[in-house]
Amino acid sequence: MTPVPAEAAKNIKNAAGLTNKMETLFCSIGKDNPKASNDVFKKAAEIIKGGGLVAFPTETVYGLGANALDRTAVKKIYEAKGRPSDNPLIVHISSLPELKTAAKEISPKAEKLIDAFWPGPLTIIFKKNDIIPFETSGGLDTIAVRFPENPAARYFIRSCGLPIAAPSANTSGRPSPTSAKHVLSDLNGKIDMIIDGGSAKFGLESTIVSTVGDEITLLRPGSVTTGMLESVVGKIKIDKTILVKPDENLRPLAPGMKYKHYSPLCNITIVKGDRDKVIKAMAELAERAGEKGEKTGIITTAEDRAFFENRGFELLSLGRETSPETIGAGLLRVLRTCDDLHLSSAFIKAFPEEGIGLAIMNRLKKAAGYNIIEV
Ligand code: AMP
Ligand code: MG
Repeated sequence: MTPVPAEAAKNIKNAAGLTNKMETLFCSIGKDNPKASNDVFKKAAEIIKGGGLVAFPTETVYGLGANALDRTAVKKIYEAKGRPSDNPLIVHISSLPELKTAAKEISPKAEKLIDAFWPGPLTIIFKKNDIIPFETSGGLDTIAVRFPENPAARYFIRSCGLPIAAPSANTSGRPSPTSAKHVLSDLNGKIDMIIDGGSAKFGLESTIVSTVGDEITLLRPGSVTTGMLESVVGKIKIDKTILVKPDENLRPLAPGMKYKHYSPLCNITIVKGDRDKVIKAMAELAERAGEKGEKTGIITTAEDRAFFENRGFELLSLGRETSPETIGAGLLRVLRTCDDLHLSSAFIKAFPEEGIGLAIMNRLKKAAGYNIIEV
């Protein structure tokens, strides 16, 4: 397929938000009323049924969808993303009865989680049904399933009438996309269609839990927090690699978590300690890097911003500490902005690893290659 520059793609949308003047269709839809963009979803369903790839909005990040039952279509996802073939995909459904297509056994605790958190940003792992090809499950006999809350995601899946295999719609190794523009910048010319439904509400990949075996295990933290899960099913197990760097002896239970992830090209440094010391150290580190001729940035919360203003480095705003969900929602976007601005290095403070902070720090540590300075 011929790549088309992002700018051109943005400019050739027609009034219906649908264009076929390029290889990757870029289609804008209204945020809350997907039915108004029925023609877009009809086209998307045609593509999926024909074995193609469609990127679509969800409340977590944008997904890159294919027919989960079609091994040839699923293989195209791995190719487009450059994703290792042992990294399984999440199957997306738009109604509860569809779960039975993908999952063999649904434990009583899994049922409680479904009742409490679906539709929503929680992915649940079950024993896989034979109809799901091993290409979708990355060779595993388990399968990850999510029922998204985002109306456009649900309308898309329903229009296809199929379970949709979808990882995040980024090039492997890049931060997950929280807007259609991010998808375009990574996958333009490599996929058939992008549905633009605005910015992702949560902006962090889904929480993943396994319900296979006796215990519930958290494999990836997200917007459904440990506390929220435990209030429904009692104490859960937490994969150790969520908090510390994985190595040969400590492998993550979610295969994808072992890969270099969420990484901007820019070198990110996390600074940890008491607030006053941290902001002073961040400014000093940025100034020193600037003196060496590096283009440097500070990623700051609203609370700290005034301290860093007018000091010669790029300031990137990331939410408000009193509403940690705003930090979660902006994190992946800000990591991409570091690269858009061609920064060589950027400094950010550590956040408390509790509630949604566990997910924020999990992604941030990966983005920083576990480069943390304690002050
Ligand atoms: P993504 O949708 O790009 O965030 O990728 C899906 C994530 O879910 C990856 O980290 C996968 O390794 C993980 N995953 C998917 N299926 C399974 C499974 N059956 N067991 C464990 N982890 C899974
Ligand atoms: Mg991903």
